[in-house]
Amino acid sequence: MNIRDFKQAKAEKLLAEVEKRFPGIRDKIQSLHVSTPLSYRDYIGTSDGSMYGIAKDYNNPMMSLLSPRTQIPNLFLTGQNLNMHGMLGVTVGAIMTCSRFLGLKYLMQQINKH
Ligand SMILES: Cc1cc2nc3c(=O)[nH]c(=O)nc-3n(C[C@H](O)[C@H](O)[C@H](O)COP(=O)(O)OP(=O)(O)OC[C@H]3O[C@@H](n4cnc5c(N)ncnc54)[C@H](O)[C@@H]3O)c2cc1C
Repeated sequence: MNIRDFKQAKAEKLLAEVEKRFPGIRDKIQSLHVSTPLSYRDYIGTSDGSMYGIAKDYNNPMMSLLSPRTQIPNLFLTGQNLNMHGMLGVTVGAIMTCSRFLGLKYLMQQINKH
């Protein structure tokens, strides 16, 4: 099966499921796009094709927990790998990182003030 057919088959499978819940939705779709881990590898540059950063393991959360502070002085981390993916996740992660510089109490006071 070539990649286009593979993607089409996956899209059909998903649409069939969505149709069960929202009958007729297929007719309302103007265009659709299907991506695979290879799309993410090639277009957003994640070596393992991950859409949402590093894989977290709920069985062992501490093994996939990254701290904003590193062992290297003055090197801090932020972004979706820290806490949670998505816009909310990176925003919360950014607050965690900034709180290491400013202190959480002071940072929250400043955020609430503005
Ligand atoms: C197709 C798609 C749809 C999504 N839709 C949603 C959505 O609807 N809602 C939502 O909340 N989230 C969505 N997400 C997830 C969201 O985009 C990510 O969780 C978020 O962008 C992660 O932010 P980040 O700053 O951690 O990483 P990124 O936004 O990936 O930023 C990392 C940056 O680091 C740069 N970089 C990487 N390596 C190096 C290097 N060696 N040197 C210098 N720079 C480097 C990259 O170029 C990039 O600019 C979506 C993601 C994808 C891929």
